[in-house]
Amino acid sequence: MKNILIILVLFLFSTLSKGQSPASASRPLVLVSFGVLQSIAKEIGEDHFSFLNISEKSDGHEFEPQPELIKNFKKAQGLILNGLDYEPWFPQVKKHYSGPVLIASEGVSRLKQPDPHAWLDPMNGIIYAENIKNFLIKLQPEAKSQLEARFENLRKKLVAISIEAKTKFRSIKNRKVVTSHSSFNYLAKALDLTFYSPQGSNAEQEPSARDLKKIIETVRQEKINALFLEHGIASGTLKTIARETKQDISGTLYSDKLTDATGPAADYLSLVKANLEKLYEALK
Ligand SMILES: [Zn+2]
Repeated sequence: MKNILIILVLFLFSTLSKGQSPASASRPLVLVSFGVLQSIAKEIGEDHFSFLNISEKSDGHEFEPQPELIKNFKKAQGLILNGLDYEPWFPQVKKHYSGPVLIASEGVSRLKQPDPHAWLDPMNGIIYAENIKNFLIKLQPEAKSQLEARFENLRKKLVAISIEAKTKFRSIKNRKVVTSHSSFNYLAKALDLTFYSPQGSNAEQEPSARDLKKIIETVRQEKINALFLEHGIASGTLKTIARETKQDISGTLYSDKLTDATGPAADYLSLVKANLEKLYEALK
């Protein structure tokens, strides 16, 4: 009997020390298409749901459904996508999942150019967060007041960040930036900046020699000196542009991928703040 007790105590201790109380293991599973959505969803609903980022090994543009992930599709009670053509792979996995789907960018005023990265403007982040909050309330109506409170907290922070950025960026002289792929058009519109990039809105597609030549000419003509790498995206093309135009690289911005917990963009709020700080430093 004593031995059984010791084993039981050890088992409980090991479960708790992994941060998994028996209750958390039974939280309903919601799938998200990439890390930024996971972060926003956790900010609002981590006490009530567990969120699984299905593109952990790539980024949301690309996704190869592995058999172990397909198992999670069968268990999941909700699926959150970005929309704006960010997930071209979705029809492929649709046959494995028949539950409710949320398009988190629903209600964002869409730009003319193809760019699904609407979350990079913090005011759009509020639209994402509100859609996610409403979706989670539908899945778990009894948690409504807690989900509303967490959303309101996040909304206030994003409004404050956005107002501060708009004021700060009003006075800067240089307003042109080069990044790896076409991902900052929403933030550019919010802050009245212009972003150029050798790659289109999907970073997996290599730029053509012609596109590369064109952007090198633009950097020279417009005297652009803010050249940024993007976290999680190959740096080769940007380094070529920097070398050809004799410019330094200003640093790394965060578009699709969060950093690990110790990095500067470990969650959505940090990602937004880090981008704004780095851009301001390079452009002021
Ligand atoms: Zn992207």
